Amino acid sequence: MRKKTKMIHGGITSDERTGAVSVPIYQVSTYKQDSVGKHRGFEYSRTGNPTRHALETVIAELENGEAGFAFGSGMAAITSVMMLFNADDHIVMTDDVYGGSYRLMTKVLNRFNLDHSFVDTSVPEKVEAAIKPNTKALFLETPTNPLLKITDIQKMVEIAKKHSLLVIVDNTFATPYWQLPLDLGADIVLHSATKYIGGHSDVVAGLVAVNSTDLAEELHFIQNSAGGVLGPQDAWLLMRGIKTLALRMEAIEKNTQKIVEFLQSHEQVSTIYYPGLPEHPGHDIAKRQVSGFGGMISFDIGSGERAEKVLENVNYFTLAESLGAVESLISLPAKMTHASIPRERRMELGITDGLIRLSIGIEDSDDLIEDLKQAME
Ligand SMILES: *Cc1c(COP(=O)(O)O)cnc(C)c1O
Repeated sequence: MRKKTKMIHGGITSDERTGAVSVPIYQVSTYKQDSVGKHRGFEYSRTGNPTRHALETVIAELENGEAGFAFGSGMAAITSVMMLFNADDHIVMTDDVYGGSYRLMTKVLNRFNLDHSFVDTSVPEKVEAAIKPNTKALFLETPTNPLLKITDIQKMVEIAKKHSLLVIVDNTFATPYWQLPLDLGADIVLHSATKYIGGHSDVVAGLVAVNSTDLAEELHFIQNSAGGVLGPQDAWLLMRGIKTLALRMEAIEKNTQKIVEFLQSHEQVSTIYYPGLPEHPGHDIAKRQVSGFGGMISFDIGSGERAEKVLENVNYFTLAESLGAVESLISLPAKMTHASIPRERRMELGITDGLIRLSIGIEDSDDLIEDLKQAME
């Protein structure tokens, strides 16, 4: 089955008993046993729920994995994956990971002595240098937010193999439509399904897929023990989102390319961060690694003042955090998603006061361009 077909026919797509073409929402906590200890595959919905199971099957298929898991949020998914490790283990992590992942490592999991180093994983030598005797995994995010830095997953897998490390990839930005980390040798791929997979700004969820039955068994044990599962209604919404993921990603990318062209022609815009541009530092790797450059653009408009004016004057771009929805979103990382990072550190990373981040939706690109144009004037 090819990708687009998998999104429609992958996983469990209908109800065997009734023939319903959409998987029913099994709003249920417990299941009648035919005799003591003899159940029909489901006993309690933390352990397994048919609607969640259908979603878990389709994400495993989309990512070419052995098994899939659905959690109550992207952070619940990441937390559960981190529970595969023990106290005094060490994780090497992309330095500009999602702020929530940074907070989880530095403010929560540090209490359990799970050690970490933040490294620019777009530079393999730095990753190699950060590996310690107790290092157990590389946690990569590619592309990153908001500068869309690219890490070479295959290169990371090579390094990991030498040191027997797991490779974990946060695939939220690229989605399984554009990037398949397990095919490149990664062990675990995860998503904030709140973003592109859900795609309609109406559900918070996390998904994981793993490449081996051993990891699948361990992660199911953790999912059932720690209990951060996704409810059946939200699982159903994600399956509905997945049906149009291919169409949305293609429409989003077409729009994004047109908006990048417009930004290139605008005299107020100094730097544009988009992996599809030949001058982007990760462009060559991205060309090999992904089948599409996605729908996120960041650009520098010179000053924080100017940036705030643009954000206040747009009509079709919604001023909001988050990304990956059908509606276009606009944000100012320095004052929103990255406000907790000290200014000096932000500047080092390239997150200037005038950096605007766009998450492009599926509106008519001419409207989006006209809107940006008038807001910039
Ligand atoms: C949003 C996001 C997360 C966290 O997911 P939630 O669903 O908000 O918990 C993790 N990683 C990336 C890259 C994200 O964008």
